[in-house]
Amino acid sequence: MSIRVLDAATISKISAGEVVERPSSVIKELVENSLDAGATAVTVEIKDGGLSYMRVTDNGCGIPFSEARLAFENHATGKLKNADGLIEIATLGFRGEALPSIAAVTRIEMTTRERGKDFGAKVSLEWGSFKAISEAGCPEGTTVTARDLFFNLPVRRAFMKKPSYEQGLVTDVILRMILGNPSVSFRFISNGKTLYHSMGDGDIRHAALCVFGRECASALIAVDVSEGAYALKGLLGVGDLARQTRAQQLFYINGRTVRCLMLSQALEAAAKGRCMTGTYPMCALELTVPPRSIDVNAHPSKLEIRFRDESAFRLTAQSLFDKAFMGQSMAEAFEKREEPPVYEKKLERVESVAKPDIKPEVKPEPPVALACESAPAKKAISIETTRETVLREDASAAVVYSAVREDAPLLKYMRAREEQTNFLKTDKSVSRHRIIGTAFNTYILLELDDSIYIIDQHAAHERLNYEKMMKSANREIAAQQLLTPYIAHVSRREAQLVADNADILKEIGYDVEPFGETDIRVNSVPFILGEADAGITFTDMIESLETVKKADVEKRKASIITAACKSAVKAGDRLTDAEIECLVSEMRESDAPPTCPHGRPVLRRVTKRELEQSFKRIV
Ligand code: ADP
Ligand code: MG
Repeated sequence: MSIRVLDAATISKISAGEVVERPSSVIKELVENSLDAGATAVTVEIKDGGLSYMRVTDNGCGIPFSEARLAFENHATGKLKNADGLIEIATLGFRGEALPSIAAVTRIEMTTRERGKDFGAKVSLEWGSFKAISEAGCPEGTTVTARDLFFNLPVRRAFMKKPSYEQGLVTDVILRMILGNPSVSFRFISNGKTLYHSMGDGDIRHAALCVFGRECASALIAVDVSEGAYALKGLLGVGDLARQTRAQQLFYINGRTVRCLMLSQALEAAAKGRCMTGTYPMCALELTVPPRSIDVNAHPSKLEIRFRDESAFRLTAQSLFDKAFMGQSMAEAFEKREEPPVYEKKLERVESVAKPDIKPEVKPEPPVALACESAPAKKAISIETTRETVLREDASAAVVYSAVREDAPLLKYMRAREEQTNFLKTDKSVSRHRIIGTAFNTYILLELDDSIYIIDQHAAHERLNYEKMMKSANREIAAQQLLTPYIAHVSRREAQLVADNADILKEIGYDVEPFGETDIRVNSVPFILGEADAGITFTDMIESLETVKKADVEKRKASIITAACKSAVKAGDRLTDAEIECLVSEMRESDAPPTCPHGRPVLRRVTKRELEQSFKRIV
């Protein structure tokens, strides 16, 4: 569409406001123009945090000579015809205000050549006044250079911060752009030094590598899910990757970087129990929605958007995030193969590309074959099992562990499960693990394929219990009658809390009734918890009721179960070999998240490669 000045009626419908606040806002507008022009390579260069010099170069479609000057007119745009177009905006820009606004407060020069044309145009303006236009020999695409921001407006200039601070803000814009546009190769140069250079090969993990570094980039969960016309794609970090703030939650809607509390909240709800309390998941997620379902004309710098049907959108978002976590289970945590060490290589290649600016001819290498991929499980242990006997064959000795220990809570859960002949894995396609032992009565060490796993037995146990209690709530299986009812001595206040929550407690398996003034009779406890420590778990559990007094039923239920599980695990400290075997086997089948209900990780993995690297066997 050729560039035209919008009519007055349309202009009046566009949300007006200041777009040039500081260097970072100039860079954002210029890069958005490059992206709208279909650029696949964009170079941003700044000096002194952008205050003295900013330049954005792209290999996009360029501007025809005849329109180059017009682009600097107020409300001149090639992206919107009239007000009807506001309903369905597919470009980042549409208001025709960025170039004139930037031109008003800088000394600006633009060289641009339309694709396929012999020559281009060079336009210059100073503090908003047109200076010159001439034919120019220049590469296809557009370069805009803006110098001396706000030199004509000392008061505005005085509001700028130190160059290092302004550079930080520009960097933030660039990093958002890199993660939101993995198919575009960005180069960011500050004071002559290249700070970031993204590959632009379309792989968001490579974009993340550039932004977050290798370790984090490899640990992020890849998301690619959809729900009707809505799709969610990108990367997600929970567990260890969760952060203290929401600053690393990057959302994009239809290519536009947005801040959206509702999306943050929906994500956090779905990630509950996967992040430690008080931490936030991190993400770079692109949401594709029908353009008509949103209004991007809500905010001058276009950072906020409105949803035409907010509650419907919230539901869709929640369901998308839930889907995003599917398959992110304990079982999967064991199945993960080591990532090939391909990233560093790629980065070196990018860094060493000597060619300036546009179109870095870096072809991504095909992933290097996995060093350890097909390594067979080392010493296989064969597990032939009935429910109660685990036979473990070792090269040297065969030991039969009798797994019958009546008070062992774990074995009770086994029995509670419906008969499953494949309870312990006999499936040949699943690698056998070998339990090396336990450390400090807390950590189970396990060898599996190319890795050693360190399992926090308490955290694992807690999570498995939690899942089972959640599943069994409301079913007969939930409760276990106590042979001798337990009498809990409680305060009046505690008695009241128990009374208020009697229904939920019952659902979970606690059958309680008042017994005198300040005593409670506990007739049954959740099956999962076993009989032995009914008293301790019950009193611990009551404490949790206080904190969730005002929460909704689901929250209260989750909190009660969490407390009960926690205390149950504390009670059963030492596990027998057979119990450990059961715990591990259950974990390897479980679709629960690999964190305890509070978000602490359940297992750590050290790969053979990492060990070999640390012992300098390999580089
Ligand atoms: P808007 O992006 O809202 O349309 P701008 O003032 O940012 O307004 O740009 C005005 C017009 O100039 C754009 O609509 C586009 O046609 C043209 N333009 C600006 N920058 C570029 C660029 N880098 N490549 C190609 N065309 C551009
Ligand atoms: Mg624009």
